[in-house]
Amino acid sequence: MIDLAHYADVAGLDVIEHLRQLAALLKGKRVIHVNSTQEGGGVAEILEKLVPLMQQLGIDTAWEVIHGNENFFMCTKSMHNALQGNAIDIPKALLNVYEETNAHNAERLREKLEAADIVFIHDPQPAPLFNLCPGKRGKWIWRCHIDIRHPHRPVWKYVRNFIKDYAASIFSLVDFAQPLPHDIFVVPPSIDPLSEKNMDIDENEVASVYKEFGLDLKRPIILQISRFDRFKDPLGVIQAFQLAKKYIPSLQLVLAGGGASDDPEGEIVLGEVRVAAADHSDIHVLALPPNADRTINALQRGADIVLQKSLREGFGLTVTEAMWKGKPVIGGDTGGIRLQVIDHHTGFLVNSPEGAALRIRYLLSHRDRLEAMGEKAREFARDNFLITRHLRDYLALMVVLVYNVEERIELS
Ligand code: UDP
Repeated sequence: MIDLAHYADVAGLDVIEHLRQLAALLKGKRVIHVNSTQEGGGVAEILEKLVPLMQQLGIDTAWEVIHGNENFFMCTKSMHNALQGNAIDIPKALLNVYEETNAHNAERLREKLEAADIVFIHDPQPAPLFNLCPGKRGKWIWRCHIDIRHPHRPVWKYVRNFIKDYAASIFSLVDFAQPLPHDIFVVPPSIDPLSEKNMDIDENEVASVYKEFGLDLKRPIILQISRFDRFKDPLGVIQAFQLAKKYIPSLQLVLAGGGASDDPEGEIVLGEVRVAAADHSDIHVLALPPNADRTINALQRGADIVLQKSLREGFGLTVTEAMWKGKPVIGGDTGGIRLQVIDHHTGFLVNSPEGAALRIRYLLSHRDRLEAMGEKAREFARDNFLITRHLRDYLALMVVLVYNVEERIELS
């Protein structure tokens, strides 16, 4: 059961009070979120939490899911990949399915959508609903969860047509956006501090997970959790470990991740990682099953330092998760890691295995700095990357749109 009161315990009472103040301005307003899946994936995960929290704040909020057949999802999957930069052209027949599917869903949802004060349309799947609801009286917002900085142009041109007349768009990072002829807001992702992956768990559970994997909690441990993907640079992490281990012989490395079994590329990278780790008894490569949330939580809590040495990154939720657990993060100087790792404060930004090794050695030989940075990291995550901040941003944005607030910060 999602309960606002529980969030007060972790995020702070003042944060909840602030949410209540913003929500009071939206009393009586009808809000609808629309996406294309009830479960699975980051968007559903966040709506599962945000919708009940908005309801508890007294805002009349609903969540509608559009339905489609296999061809519809084949089309939107290609669209998703094309918008993220793959040169994929979508056949006209599939685009017709996309439009027809939206037309069918509009029949079902039109009355509700037209009556709403605010409609959040998540990602491209339901985007055409806007033009299919001519009697709408509210403000419609396109919430884009993906990185469309370098889209395949013909597909973006097509999708853009459905979006351009919305009242506003939201992107997760400034860098992810495309120019559009309306207000563009930036709302970064967040984690749920009460989920299995992030909730407090006791030390015994952490110890038993570490024992299960043959790790020694009395010796220093560095950890990277991520899919086995070249952009996450697992081989660079191994190099950094080897360089640091010359000076800290007791050092252990955990490289944990899943998703390799359903991703041929991931399987290859995992194979390379296993080869690179083969002669080192202190490198532990863990292939995690899906939904290993509790294990990930325990691994992050038991590590001394968390690495996310990505060469390219979206936002980097693993960074947020580690920071929330009071760990300094040594992260690649890229993407959303830059928003989270404030160099020398919440961790270190690095550009090479050598740089990472230097920072590992520094932190492990200055325990007071390690602790202080970890504490700062937790505070920074609390202030900026919890779901309560995500909710606050949505409320503030709705207030701006409903009251036509003119003052704003212009980002150039
Ligand atoms: N994750 C997971 N199992 C794994 C590897 C990663 O559940 O084996 C989780 C991780 O804890 C994080 C998310 O998947 O919540 C990955 O998000 P991130 O933004 O770090 O990277 P992405 O995989 O989206 O590039």
